[in-house]
Amino acid sequence: MLYIVGLGPGEKGQMSFQAWETVKNCEVIVGYTTYIRLIKPLLSDKEIISTGMKQEIDRCKVAIEQAKMGKEVAVISSGDAGVYGMAGLILELLAKEEASLDVQIIPGITASLGGAALLGAPLMNDFCHISLSDLMTPWEMIEKRLHAAAQADFVICLYNPRSKGRPKHLEKALEIIKKYKKGETIVGIAKDVGRKKEAAIVTTINALDETQVDMTTVVIIGNKETYVSKGKMITPRGYHL
Ligand code: SAH
Repeated sequence: MLYIVGLGPGEKGQMSFQAWETVKNCEVIVGYTTYIRLIKPLLSDKEIISTGMKQEIDRCKVAIEQAKMGKEVAVISSGDAGVYGMAGLILELLAKEEASLDVQIIPGITASLGGAALLGAPLMNDFCHISLSDLMTPWEMIEKRLHAAAQADFVICLYNPRSKGRPKHLEKALEIIKKYKKGETIVGIAKDVGRKKEAAIVTTINALDETQVDMTTVVIIGNKETYVSKGKMITPRGYHL
C-alpha cells in the first residue's frame, strides 16, 4: 500500500491524527530531507529514503517500487500532498503503468490555511492559490493567472513567492496585481507557519517589505473589502451586523 501523506505546515499539533497514525504504521518513509526532520521522533524503527529538492520524480518512483514489493510505504509532503505536493506526481506516474497499486491520500493543512489562521480570517470569501514558481509553469501563464485573479478581486494566496533564484517574482506579481487592486489593499504575510520562526505580519500592498518574504512564506492578498481590526486581517463574508 502506498500512502501519500500531508504533514501540515510544520508542527505536530497541526498534523491530522490520520497522518500521524499512517506514518507511525508504515515501514518505509519517503520524503524531502526537511520534512523527514519534522517527524523525526516517529521514525526510529523505519527505513527512510530521503532525497534533496528537485529529485521528486526519482523519489516517487522509488516509493512506487517499494510499495510494489508489498511494503507499507508513506510518501510525505508538507502541508497537503495534493497542493503543489507529491500526490499528483505519483498518480501521474501510476497512470502510465498498466498494473494498479493501492494508493491512499491523507490530507493535511496547507500553508495558506495555517497562515490564514495566524493572520485572522482572510479567506472568508472566494480565494485562489497561485504559485510564483516558474520551474514547471511558464512565467507568462503565471502572469495571466495573476491578471485574471486580481481583476476578479479574488483573495490571492501566493505560494513560492520569493527565493534566491527568483528574487523579483513577488515584485513583478505585485505590479500586476496593483493594476486592479488598490495599493492600500491589506496583505498578510505568514512565515514559517508551525515552525520555530513562525511570524505573521499584516501590511498593505504598498507597504509590503519584500525582504520579509522567503520560500517558507505564504502571502495572502486581500480583496477590496478586507480590513484590519485589532491586528487581525478580516475578509467579510457578507453578514449584516
Ligand atoms: N504542499 C505544500 C506546498 C508546497 S509548495 C502545502 O500544502 O503547504 C511550497 C510553498 O508552500 C512555499 O514556497 C511556501 O509558499 C508555502 N509553505 C510551505 N510550508 C510553509 C510554512 N510552514 N509556512 C509558510 N509557507 C509555507
